[in-house]
Amino acid sequence: MSTTPSSTPSSGTARSDRGTHRRLREEVAALHGHLVRYQLVTWTAGNVSARVPGEDLFVIKASGVDYESLDWRGVVVCDLDGNLVDGEHAPSSDTAAHAFVYRSRSDVGGQVHTHSPYATAWAARGESIPCVLTAMADEFGGPIPVGPFAIIGDDSIGRGVVATLAESRSPAVLMQNHGVFTIGKDARSAVKAAVMTEDVARTVHLSRQHGEPLPIPQDAVDRLFNRYQNVYGQR
Ligand SMILES: [Zn+2]
Repeated sequence: MSTTPSSTPSSGTARSDRGTHRRLREEVAALHGHLVRYQLVTWTAGNVSARVPGEDLFVIKASGVDYESLDWRGVVVCDLDGNLVDGEHAPSSDTAAHAFVYRSRSDVGGQVHTHSPYATAWAARGESIPCVLTAMADEFGGPIPVGPFAIIGDDSIGRGVVATLAESRSPAVLMQNHGVFTIGKDARSAVKAAVMTEDVARTVHLSRQHGEPLPIPQDAVDRLFNRYQNVYGQR
């Protein structure tokens, strides 16, 4: 790799790489504000990461950093094995999971992890969220699936995320007994998926208090998903 800062002393390329990294670190630091705004995180839990375009690197929140004081310095640069490349702090304890997903899925440009309460309540039961809202068909293309129980510290969370999402159109997975992992073409898309996951987890939970929500026919789910993904919005 040509991206190790120490191997490119005082070159213009190294400076512009640093400039690109700084902008991405600022952008990802700011995106964490949505996790707070939508009440998806408590204390220092949760994180956003983004692949560095064109490099075998990604940026991710540092471990144990308060959201109130989070700026670009609280977002560090790692290689795709999860080793710290640039930054003052240790990377998030979820870095191995993010790294595994980036290594396995070249289409993923951003990821989010939260323990957002309604979605994590579904995860605690190991229950997928059924597709009973048109907004779910739009964003997730079906149910939000459950991934395996896995303990932090090796590749097992990343493996579970990749294996579960490979069999789904959903950009979100509920890791059993743990919480939400989302992917996107960039970090902002992954943040949106995390916000929408908590929103539909809450609404479907509320709906179930008074009966069984009605499923949406599969052909309608397919039509909604295709329209939203390909036609809706500014493209
Ligand atoms: Zn977690």
